[in-house]
Amino acid sequence: MKTLKDAEFQGKTVLIRVDYNVPLDEEKNVTDNLRIVSTIPTVDYILECGAKVVLCSHLGRPDGQPKPEFSLRPVAEEAARVFEEEVVFADDDEVVGEKTLAMLEQFKKSDARIMLLQNTRYRAEEEANDPEFSKQLASLADVFVMDAFGAAHRAHASTVGVADYLPTYAGLLMADEVKYLGELLEEPHRPFTVVMGGSKVSDKIQVFRNLLKKADSIIVGGAMAYTFLKAQGYNVGISKVEADKLDLANEILELAKEKGVEFYLPTDCSGSTEFSNDTPKVSYAYNEMPDDFMGLDIGPETQAKYKEVLKNSKTIVLNGPMGVFEMENYTDGTIAVLEGMALAKDAVKIVGGGDSAAAVSQFGYTDDMTHISTGGGASLKLMEGKLLPGVKVCL
Ligand code: AMP
Repeated sequence: MKTLKDAEFQGKTVLIRVDYNVPLDEEKNVTDNLRIVSTIPTVDYILECGAKVVLCSHLGRPDGQPKPEFSLRPVAEEAARVFEEEVVFADDDEVVGEKTLAMLEQFKKSDARIMLLQNTRYRAEEEANDPEFSKQLASLADVFVMDAFGAAHRAHASTVGVADYLPTYAGLLMADEVKYLGELLEEPHRPFTVVMGGSKVSDKIQVFRNLLKKADSIIVGGAMAYTFLKAQGYNVGISKVEADKLDLANEILELAKEKGVEFYLPTDCSGSTEFSNDTPKVSYAYNEMPDDFMGLDIGPETQAKYKEVLKNSKTIVLNGPMGVFEMENYTDGTIAVLEGMALAKDAVKIVGGGDSAAAVSQFGYTDDMTHISTGGGASLKLMEGKLLPGVKVCL
């Protein structure tokens, strides 16, 4: 991959595709600025080389229309706070219209170093990866840097199309994501343990298939564990199950056997009679769950076992929570796994984005991890062993 170190930025204008698709509250305040903070290394590096930076991103789904509720203005304000300097916001409904072009001229003459374009999805041509829109974006700069890992699995004008018209490099965030979720998993330090959790097996089938080729152990928790247990013929009561994925679950178990991968399913489960934190919590062995039981977390015996396996691992990938960690009664399983990761002192520990990243931060394990991915869908695709379109343009 071509990275920033390969590029010449002095005196240039650099278009950086970032992923500033951040959550906003009703008053349009940014409630989590991690995605902005994560771009500091790339932006700083380029600014320090003596370049000016034009940032672009999408936000939400305005469906190709300039809908004010999807404006990047609040993001520009937050970015100015994060970078501690002026961020010129090109509030142009056409994204790259007359207004932006005029502002760019001014910007180049001014002391300001950072400019942010309006939501790229204000234009329908963005998601269509339209060459004309790609050209317009490219016309703003001399170099393109792709640092929007969270959008790298989508071939849009601002993530892929623009690279046809400008020299293109991977930003530092992209380079890190590819290093940890891609390259490192090709040659992991062993034993290599993968923790699979979350709600659905179906979302993660390809991740299972790819990592089964590389892992020594796979640990399963979350709702997906009940699909596996049911596939094995056990009663799981009213736990969440993907009834049409039982064959697939058995196929994965077979594959694990074939590859000699240790496959751990919960030996006990905690839960209740409803999807609620207010009804009493009970635990059952995997083969003793009653008809009115809903499994909402891995049980205490499983927690201890999983912690032990993790403690002795040298590479760990966490891919989904062990239970409904949003409810106070069902945080233990996820915390046990995080604790196991923390205890694996010299291991490489990678967190695969989305809910897992939220749990790591919520329970205070951020400093114990080697890499926390900023992407959801993109992290999954990389762990599936795919070459993402937004990575390909940096090769
Ligand atoms: P995912 O988006 O697939 O990573 O799934 C994360 C979600 O799975 C979280 O919101 C959890 O609350 C949920 N989850 C985990 N375990 C269970 C369970 N046993 N039953 C229902 N939902 C679960």
